[in-house]
Amino acid sequence: MLGLLLLPLLWPLQHFSERYYRQSLEEQNRQTLDLYVANLLGTLHRYEVLPPILADLPPLRALLANPGDGGLQAAANQVLAAVRQDTGADVIYLMSPSGITLGSSNWDQPDSFVGRNFAYRPYFREALAGNQGRFFGLGTTSRKRGYFFASPVRDGQRIVGILVVKVDLDDAETLWGKTPEQLMVTDANGVVIISSRSDWRFHATRPLDNAERAAIVANQPYPTQAPPPLALEERAWITQSRELTETGLTASILAPRQLIDRQVSTTVAIGGAVLLALLLLLGLLMQRRRHYLDRIALDAQARRELEMRVLERTQDLEALNSRLKDEVLEREQAQQELVRAQDELVQAGKLSALGTMSASISHELNQPLAAIRSYADNAGVLLDHQRIGDARGNLQQISELTGRMASIIAHLRAFARRDRHAPESVALQPALDDALALLAKRRRAMDVELIRDLPDAPLWVQAGETRLRQVLGNLLANALDALAERPQPRRIWISAETTGDGVALHLRDNGPGFSEEALRRAREPFFTTKTSTQGLGLGLAICDSLMRALGGELVFANHPEGGALLTLRLRNAAPGVIPQPPEDLTA
Ligand code: ADP
Repeated sequence: MLGLLLLPLLWPLQHFSERYYRQSLEEQNRQTLDLYVANLLGTLHRYEVLPPILADLPPLRALLANPGDGGLQAAANQVLAAVRQDTGADVIYLMSPSGITLGSSNWDQPDSFVGRNFAYRPYFREALAGNQGRFFGLGTTSRKRGYFFASPVRDGQRIVGILVVKVDLDDAETLWGKTPEQLMVTDANGVVIISSRSDWRFHATRPLDNAERAAIVANQPYPTQAPPPLALEERAWITQSRELTETGLTASILAPRQLIDRQVSTTVAIGGAVLLALLLLLGLLMQRRRHYLDRIALDAQARRELEMRVLERTQDLEALNSRLKDEVLEREQAQQELVRAQDELVQAGKLSALGTMSASISHELNQPLAAIRSYADNAGVLLDHQRIGDARGNLQQISELTGRMASIIAHLRAFARRDRHAPESVALQPALDDALALLAKRRRAMDVELIRDLPDAPLWVQAGETRLRQVLGNLLANALDALAERPQPRRIWISAETTGDGVALHLRDNGPGFSEEALRRAREPFFTTKTSTQGLGLGLAICDSLMRALGGELVFANHPEGGALLTLRLRNAAPGVIPQPPEDLTA
């Protein structure tokens, strides 16, 4: 997959790197080739000019004039050897127009040319025709490769001899170092004459035609009569060639393609690796970017969900809140209703108590009234009889009785009055006395013994005077009710004890005590065990709420020895002023 991706990217890389390396290789090789060609041409040119110059040397002309003269031959040999020595040519020799060598620089060597006939060589024929003769060929005896320059020696228009300079070309090969690039010099036949590869030597780089083959057989330039073809693999070599002007030679440099192939493959490998790394990096970056985007999307989603949930919760809470507000409002209204109802109840309780008490009240008032009337009638009679002192006694009695009546009425007024004042300091004993006074007649009628155990010093408690009296009156009335069905002795105990921060007032009777249900439910309004004419069931409910409003407590229980035991817990208060009995009616 990645490979497929890389291919279109690597192909141009391969192409361009190949071109680049090929160009730089070719540039380098061209310079090498130029250098080599310049060197070779320089060598050849040096010797090219030699034959025409040497042709004018007198000893040589003398020998040509007298070829059989041994002395002249020796002199010519000496001259040729000396020139050869000076110029560095391989061999220099002089030939007669028939091709026989008359003198030679190698006259004293085992392979001396002297006396030998080289008329078959092309250079000889060329020179004999009056031209500059050139030829490549192996030395017939030395087997060394040489390049031959030949010039005619003229006497006027007549050619009297041929002068030949042979240049050694073996050196031209040894100059080539051991490089991967190979050198190849071919002659006009396309046959390799010089090469850094010995196995290429004397192989034909192109097919030879018949004329060429015949010429090779005739001239014998190579060690073989039929040079084998050079089977070079075209693809494996990068060939650059340069022709050496006038010599008919072509110099080539062959660089193995491997050279650039290796560099190209290295470049492609590096390029491929870099590209791969880049692609991977890109892939990684893209993946990370995708992850990042995914995460952002996820975060956004989560945030949206959270916001939705918050919104829903907020709506829920708002709904709840408004419901709560409504409920609070309802409760407040209910509370107000309750307070109102409670007020009404208190008032109703008072009125009901007044109602039930009205009989005894009227009795309580009628009795002194009757007494007053009889005292007054009596006083009239006593005045008629001038018994002033007795009449005064009667009037005194009347005055006392009206005081008592005023007191009763004041109690009733106080009882019936709506009392909304904050708790104040109230002395316990006078309040109790007042309550007892209201029930005194009934108690006496029932012959109930009162056992009182209270300190003389006033016990100051936090209360409202009227309310406290109302509570005590209620409790005492209940006690009397309870004792009504009891046989004698009937008793009520009243005692007080001081507690840590207040006073506990105990009211005990020896009646039947609370029934079990009454103990549980006596605080409930309208709970009663009495007949509807006897009780409304409001008494204890009102007492309980009054006591709690005063910061106190009402506790119902039964005494272990039988009968009810009611305890009023009241808070201590600072000592205040004991109120005088109301004077409004007596005034
Ligand atoms: P009522 O006196 O109109 O019945 P209360 O609230 O004053 O209403 O009393 C409720 C009930 O408590 C009475 O019906 C009675 O059963 C019981 N109870 C109150 N005081 C006493 C007591 N001293 N002894 C026995 N039972 C009592």
